[in-house]
Amino acid sequence: MRIILLGPPGSGKGTQAALLRDQHSVVHISTGMLLREAVKNQTELGQQAQQFMDAGELVPDSLMLGLIEQRLGQADVTNGFILDGYPRNLSQAEALDTVLNRIGQPLDGAIAVTVDETEVVERLLNRAKQEGRSDDTEDVIRNRMRVYAEQTAPVAGYYDARGQLRQVDGMGSIETVQQRLVETLGTL
Ligand code: AMP
Repeated sequence: MRIILLGPPGSGKGTQAALLRDQHSVVHISTGMLLREAVKNQTELGQQAQQFMDAGELVPDSLMLGLIEQRLGQADVTNGFILDGYPRNLSQAEALDTVLNRIGQPLDGAIAVTVDETEVVERLLNRAKQEGRSDDTEDVIRNRMRVYAEQTAPVAGYYDARGQLRQVDGMGSIETVQQRLVETLGTL
């Protein structure tokens, strides 16, 4: 299994990706998690990325390319992967194709998890309370939603144009959404 999960911040795609990882013994690659780790460890990447993350903006593509190339170059990727949070714009989608072709691990496809925006903002505000993430304040959440609509939503069309996009309704319990995802995976 080599797939991308697409969906706005708070769509639950991270939770769903972790469940799929456990079921299918593939790796779950979350660029948001990798970046938060880099910030925590104050690596050079972390120092450069932090201001963009705190503002809810995308970290520049050039920094992201190095990160994703490095992660996809690791041995565990050959068993399959779920990408969560990458690609986030069209140029990242193109760069990803190049990297995956180079390593001989082409995508099965992308699944877009769709949710209703009011629900998503509520989920994110709850998560802010539980996890204390610095990019989960209301203003930053709204900016992340805007960035998603403007830059990331078009990525779905990129995969749709080659018949590699599926949509899954992300509303409902974790188990319900997981069930829908498993069914949809069978169609890729
Ligand atoms: P996430 O956990 O996926 O919501 O990501 C948290 C933050 O990390 C985002 O708001 C961006 O600032 C940054 N980020 C994560 N993935 C990417 C990416 N593929 N491209 C640019 N920035 C990213």
